[in-house]
Amino acid sequence: MKMSKLFVQTLRDFPQDAEAISHKLLVRAGYIKKLANGIYSYLPLMKRVISKVEQIAREELNKAGAQELSMPFVQPAELWQKSGRWQVYGKELLRMKDRHDVELCLGPTHEEVITSIVDGILTSYKQLPVNLYQFQLKFRDEIRPRFGLLRGREFIMKDGYSFHTSQESLDIEYKNMWGAYKRIFDRCNLETKVVQSDSGAIGGKVSHEFMVLTETQTGEDDVFYCKHCDYAANSNHATSKLKDEITTTRFTKEEIVDTPNIRTIKELAQFLKVEENNILKSVLYIVDSKPVMVMIRGDKEVEETKLLNALCGLEIRKATEDEAKEITGSEVGFLSCIGLEDKVKVLFDKSAKNMKNFVIGINQPHKHMVGKNFTKEHDFLDLSLVKEGELCPHCSNPLYVTRGIEVGNIFQLGTKYSEPMNATYTDENGQNKPFIMGCYGIGITRTASAAIEKHHDENGIIWPLAIAPYHCVVVPVNMQESEQKDMAEKIYNSLLSKGVEVVIDDREDRAGVKFKDADLIGFPYRITVGKTAKDGLVEFKTRMTGETVLLSPNEAIKKITEEVDKLKG
Ligand code: ATP
Ligand code: MG
Repeated sequence: MKMSKLFVQTLRDFPQDAEAISHKLLVRAGYIKKLANGIYSYLPLMKRVISKVEQIAREELNKAGAQELSMPFVQPAELWQKSGRWQVYGKELLRMKDRHDVELCLGPTHEEVITSIVDGILTSYKQLPVNLYQFQLKFRDEIRPRFGLLRGREFIMKDGYSFHTSQESLDIEYKNMWGAYKRIFDRCNLETKVVQSDSGAIGGKVSHEFMVLTETQTGEDDVFYCKHCDYAANSNHATSKLKDEITTTRFTKEEIVDTPNIRTIKELAQFLKVEENNILKSVLYIVDSKPVMVMIRGDKEVEETKLLNALCGLEIRKATEDEAKEITGSEVGFLSCIGLEDKVKVLFDKSAKNMKNFVIGINQPHKHMVGKNFTKEHDFLDLSLVKEGELCPHCSNPLYVTRGIEVGNIFQLGTKYSEPMNATYTDENGQNKPFIMGCYGIGITRTASAAIEKHHDENGIIWPLAIAPYHCVVVPVNMQESEQKDMAEKIYNSLLSKGVEVVIDDREDRAGVKFKDADLIGFPYRITVGKTAKDGLVEFKTRMTGETVLLSPNEAIKKITEEVDKLKG
C-alpha cells in the first residue's frame, strides 16, 4: 500500500470529547470516525485490525472444534417473548416496529436466535455436543457509551454457543473455550486475568470474565485478586473473609441514647466514641417497586448486584428520603429494621453476624439504641462489597484491587433458554430433553482498544505485530533522491513478495512528518531509507522497544520476514 493512496487522515490534536487514550489515538491516527454517540465507522486501518483479531479468534476456535456461522442482526420480538427476556432486558435493547407493526429489536446478543436455529436441526443426542459462533455487530443502547470502542453502542462481538446433553459435557467444553480464549488473548499480546463474575442479564450460574488489568479509569470493573493463590473475582461477585470477625463496644446495657442531628455513620461513630464497625447500618432499597432493608456492618457497603441476585430481582435503586420517611416513619440517618420486619423485607449481610453490643437506629429521629444484640436467628447473606485488605476466601491472604477491562466472558447457561423456548433433543431412551447450553463472548472492537490501552506511548500506538494493520512501513527520507526512492521501492516490493504487509510512505512530505505519522499509526517496524542508502544501509526501527540499528536492506527484510513467519506459528 502506498501511503499517498491510503485512506487515512492523521490529526494534529486529540479529539475534544475523548477521555480514554485508545479513543484519543484511534481518532487522531485515523482509525475510526464518529457517526453518532457510541457509533463509529471503522476506517481501512481499523478494519484491518478488526480482521486480524477476528482471524486469530477464528483460528483458535476452529482448532477447538467450534464452527462459524452468521446470524441476523435484526431479531423478532417473538423470540425474546418466548425466552422471557423481552420484559426483563432493559433499555439497552433497541426495540422497533416494521411496516406491518411487527415488533423487532437490534441484537444485543444472540441466545434466542441460536436456540431457535438449532431447534429442529439438532434432534438427537448423537449430534451433540455442538459449538457454533459468529462475528457480528451488536447494538446495545448503553446508558453511558464512552471511551470510544471500549464501550460503544454498536460494536463487534464474537459470540459462540454450545449445546450439550449433560453438565459434564458442558464442563468439558467450558474448559475447552477457556483455553481457546487464553490463547486468543495471548496471541493478541494481551495478558488477561480470569475472574469469577456475575452472569447479569445473560443468566446462568457459573461464569468467568477475561480481564485486561489496567490502573486507569478506562478499566470500568474493579477486580479483586489474591497474590498467593489464583483467586480473582469481579467486584459484583467477589467475596472475602473479614479480618475482625467479632466486634463489640463499651456499651454492655441496651439503652436508647440521644444522637442529635447525626446523619452519617462517621458522625455517629465519632459522637458515640465507637468504631464504624460497631454500628449496624440500615440501608433501604426499592427492588422491583418493593422496599427491602439491608442490615450491614457500618464500615461496609452494599453490593447492589449481589442484593438483586439474592432477591432474583430485576431493578434496584436506593429509596429516596421521602420514601424512607413514608416506609419507616423516620428520617434517613436513624433508620432501622426494628419494628419493621412485618412490613418490609429485611436482609442481613454476613458482616453483621459477629457484632456484639452494637449501635442501631430505632426509626426515631435523633435517637439510636446502644448495647444491642441479636435476639433471634437470622440468615446472614453475602450482600456486601469487598474492600481491599480483606482476606482471600481461599487462602486468607490479603486481597488486592485493580481496574480491569472485560474483553471476554464465558457462561454456563444450563437450560435457561432451551427450556422456555422448548428447544429439545431426543436422548438415548427416546425422551425429549432441553439442551444444556454454554455461551462465550469476546468484544472484538474492545479487545483492539484494550491492546492500545496497554501498548502506547506519547507518540502514538504501539501495535503488537499480530494485530497491527500493517507489519511495517518503509520511509524514503527524500523522494527527490532517486537512490533513496529506488532502494525504498525495492525493499517494499521484496517485502510484498514475501507476504509482509507493508506501506511505503511515498509522500513528498518532510521526513519528520512521515516519522510522526509512522509512530502515531503504530507500525511495528520502520525501515528508513536515507543518506546511508549510498553505503547500502538502512535504518531499522522496532516501535515496541524504540531500538534503531543500521542494516543492509536484505538483513532488514530478513528480520521482518522472520518475525512475521513466527506469527503463523
Ligand atoms: P459490560 O459489563 O462491559 O457492559 P457485558 O458483560 O454486558 O459487558 P457481555 O454480554 O458479556 O458484555 O458481552 C461479551 C463481550 O462483549 C464483553 O466481554 C465485552 O468484551 C464486549 N462488550 C460488551 N458490551 C460492549 C460495548 N458496549 N462496547 C464494546 N464491547 C462490548
Ligand atoms: Mg460480560
